Amino acid sequence: MDESAQEVSTRCALVTGSSRGIGLAIARSLAETGCDVALNCSGSARLPALEETAAEIAQRFGVQATAFAADISKPEEAKRLVDEALAAFGHIDILVNNAGITRDGSIVRMTEQDFDDVIAVNLKGAFNCCKAVARPMMRQRFGRIISLSSVVGIYGNAGQVNYAASKAGVIGMTKALSRELVSRGITVNAVAPGFISTDMTDALPDRQRALLVERIGCGRLGTPEDVANVVRFLASDGAGYVTGQVICVDGGLQA
Ligand code: NAD
Repeated sequence: MDESAQEVSTRCALVTGSSRGIGLAIARSLAETGCDVALNCSGSARLPALEETAAEIAQRFGVQATAFAADISKPEEAKRLVDEALAAFGHIDILVNNAGITRDGSIVRMTEQDFDDVIAVNLKGAFNCCKAVARPMMRQRFGRIISLSSVVGIYGNAGQVNYAASKAGVIGMTKALSRELVSRGITVNAVAPGFISTDMTDALPDRQRALLVERIGCGRLGTPEDVANVVRFLASDGAGYVTGQVICVDGGLQA
């Protein structure tokens, strides 16, 4: 193994909301490259299941994998999550802001709480985690921050005013933060998935799903692995010249 490959194998990634769906696929994919992974779920009720997942990843890929419960929408919990991961691994090289929720509805039905909850997790949660990792990454003069946006944050979508605002906010935050951190060896990028088959989209009625697929050039919904492949590239040492970008992973979706 050459020296640079050795370096990659010692990286550590924190992936928020990695108990299932896209986050879990990203954690697995990074572990496959030799990264140690810090997994996260929002509450302690899910921790035993996440610990089992961590054990399975550690055994399968021969890396260190640890599970942490923290609601990343709360600044103090996001900070504790980062501190605990730093204590366990000694360093965090890659942060993937994946945790996200939806509370869909037309504007007349959407409550203030629906709006605030989605912003709190999707946008403020990503901010909380970025803030908590910024200093340690600046000190080590290396970092990869990748946040999950959505094509909905670029094109909009009826019934998702709160979600679209949160995901557009992630793009603005990514671009601003990339400028702040680029001189410290830290890249900051966003990935904007189209429609990916997960628990989030499994909730769609069949008719709505069929109409959606008609608009996708590839003729299918994406898989969590389609997204993980792009995150894996952006997280790699070789992606050091890519920052402040938003990469759509949407199978050629007609907006
Ligand atoms: P999912 O609902 O399957 O998983 C979301 C994860 O986030 C879960 O593990 C959940 O427990 C966790 N989470 C929610 N609130 C949290 C909190 N406060 N603190 C910590 N963890 C929390 O969703 P998914 O489809 O896998 O989506 C993952 C990301 O990708 C989200 O940010 C989502 O907005 C984005 N995305 C998804 C799609 C899609 O089609 N599925 C499309 C575009 C963007």
